[in-house]
Amino acid sequence: MPGAAVPTFGGLVEVSVGSATDLGHHRRVNEDSLLVCPHVYVVADGMGGHAAGDQASAILVEEMSRLAAVAVEAADVSEVLQQANVRIRALADGGAGTTVTAAIGVEHQGAPYWLVANLGDSRTYQLSEGRLEQVSVDHSVVQELLDRGVLDAAGARRHPQRHVITRAVGTPEAVEPDYWLLPVLDGGRLVLCSDGLTGEVEDAQMADVLLAHPDPQQAADALVAMALDGGGRDNVTVVVIDARVRDGGSALQDTLPRPASGAS
Ligand code: MN
Repeated sequence: MPGAAVPTFGGLVEVSVGSATDLGHHRRVNEDSLLVCPHVYVVADGMGGHAAGDQASAILVEEMSRLAAVAVEAADVSEVLQQANVRIRALADGGAGTTVTAAIGVEHQGAPYWLVANLGDSRTYQLSEGRLEQVSVDHSVVQELLDRGVLDAAGARRHPQRHVITRAVGTPEAVEPDYWLLPVLDGGRLVLCSDGLTGEVEDAQMADVLLAHPDPQQAADALVAMALDGGGRDNVTVVVIDARVRDGGSALQDTLPRPASGAS
C-alpha cells in the first residue's frame, strides 16, 4: 500500500513509503527485487546465469521479510543473510548472487534508529534538510578506484568495470555486510535503489527529483522515469521512505522499564 502511513518501531515512528521497479529498455528479465513491509525495507539486485539472478534476489527479500516479525539487531540481519547465502549458493549453477541494501527500523534505549545494511553496489541515501547524502559505500571495483583517488564520480559512471562488485550474497566468501545506525530524523527521507538508478542519474538530479516530490510514491515513480529517460540500460528499483517521529515516542519511553542506572 504505497503512500499509506503505518506505525512502526513500536509506534515511535510513522512511515510513508513509495516504491517502483522497471525492467529498463535493454534487459529481458527484471532481476531486481524489493521488500516493503513494516520496519523492513530492502532493494536487492540479482545476477547470475540461467536467469538465476531474479531467483537470488527473490530469495534474499524472502529471507529478509522474516525480520519484520522480530525486534532486530545487526546479528539478526547477519544471520538472515547467511541463510540467504546458503540458499542462493544452492541454486542451479551456483553462479547466482545478489546485492542487498536494507533499512530496518530498530529501537535503541527507547529511541528510533535506522539500521542500514549493505553488500554490493545497490545504495541507501538519506535526504534531510534538503541535502542528499549517500549512506552506504559500494563494494565495487569502481569504489576501490574512487577510494584511491584515481577516478571521479563522472568517470565511475562510465567505467567499463562499473558493474563489477566485490561483495555480494551468494558467493563462496564469507558474507560480510557493512552496517550503519542512523537516528530516525523527523521529516527525514531514505532512498534505497539499485545501480540501474545511480548508473543513469547523478546524485544532484536525484536530490532535485526528491525535493520536487513530497509524496514518496510520486518520488519513486519520478526517479525510475528519470533512469529510463537516461537510457534505462539496467533494471531499476527505488524505495522511498519518509519518517515522522511521533511525540508519543517519549511517552513510550516512560512506559518502558528504566535501566537501574537511570542514565539513559
Ligand atoms: Mn543492476
